[in-house]
Amino acid sequence: MIPYSRQQVTENDIKEVVKVLKSDYLTQGRVVPRFESAISKITNAKFATAVNSATSALHISCLALGLRENDYLWTSANSFVASANCGVYCGAKIDLIDINNDDWNISIKTLENKLKLAKKNNTLPKILVTVHFSGQPTFQEKIYQLSKKYKFRIIEDASHSLGASRNEVNVGSCKWSDVTVFSFHPVKIITSGEGGAITTNSEKIDAKLKSLRNHGIIRDKNLLINKKSGPWYFEQISLGLNYRMTDIHAALGLSQIKRLKSIIKCRNKIANIYNELFFDLPISPVKINEGNISSYHLYPIVLNNENNVKNHKKIFEYLRSNKINVGLHYIPIYRHPFYKKYKFQISKFKNTEKYYSSAMSIPIFVQITEKEINHVYHTLKKSLSVQFNV
Ligand SMILES: *Cc1c(COP(=O)(O)O)cnc(C)c1O
Repeated sequence: MIPYSRQQVTENDIKEVVKVLKSDYLTQGRVVPRFESAISKITNAKFATAVNSATSALHISCLALGLRENDYLWTSANSFVASANCGVYCGAKIDLIDINNDDWNISIKTLENKLKLAKKNNTLPKILVTVHFSGQPTFQEKIYQLSKKYKFRIIEDASHSLGASRNEVNVGSCKWSDVTVFSFHPVKIITSGEGGAITTNSEKIDAKLKSLRNHGIIRDKNLLINKKSGPWYFEQISLGLNYRMTDIHAALGLSQIKRLKSIIKCRNKIANIYNELFFDLPISPVKINEGNISSYHLYPIVLNNENNVKNHKKIFEYLRSNKINVGLHYIPIYRHPFYKKYKFQISKFKNTEKYYSSAMSIPIFVQITEKEINHVYHTLKKSLSVQFNV
């Protein structure tokens, strides 16, 4: 099977992990801070906090930004469930926003209309989670302007988009947001096995995040309430969690992040080859907007031809039976049984529905071979002309 994405682990990555295994500290050692420095350097953010997953990162970002029971958290309808679940963990109410028809990112127009209405109804969100779908940045500067007007906080879910940029501003620099969250799951741009990180330019938010990932504990002598205790002393000041990243994971992440530039280059090269090969096929690949560099975590396409759309499932099965493990990113969040209780009206998500009925993610990863790319092209081409018995 050719997967839709997979990790690349080099001999050097393995060496770095083994070094930690032979050292004194498997966790809470020196490697996590080094990984954090590398993340903040590469994104241009002042601070970075490594945690054990992007899901954890989203959760404590919500806590650090003060999301409470009955607040609203909004996110894109076309994302992995974790982008919304973080709000549920905090007891917040969830609302979802429809996407554009060409980049499948959150629609600014829909967002703006929704905000206008929410202002009238006193249901404005406390937090908006923007998702850089497939690795392409959203129109983040416009979202930032709206956040000033309507007074909400922004978490960028950049699980797909480490190494991407918009108008030469790196994703993760938090120029247009409060915090940015990354995932280092094996299918993502770089991996630490499992892992995540949060970048921010706010010292205060950063301190909160570092405390929240470690049970809500602080050790900074200047911040302690009881300053006169002994050298053993620390304080728990809030209800945190154990979301720490281990040094074993950080060593893998740190070794991988050194290759980030070449990984992004390689993924863009593969995407360009696909773009050229697919030019004549009745499909549309993701549209990259002016000023954007995508990190191409995914290479999503939609079927254009009505007949093909009807055969969406068959085409999917055809590709899989020909050893191409296409994916569908994503099942719209409102379609999951867990989210039924929120009573989302499907009619409000026209573009998400249209996308869902005709989309698939084509294999893209660093080690994909020319032969595999050609196999994908020929099989896809064939599948689009097969007369399936419906
Ligand atoms: C992968 C992913 C997550 C979750 O990442 P984990 O590190 O597996 O917790 C969250 N949001 C999006 C958009 C993702 O793709």
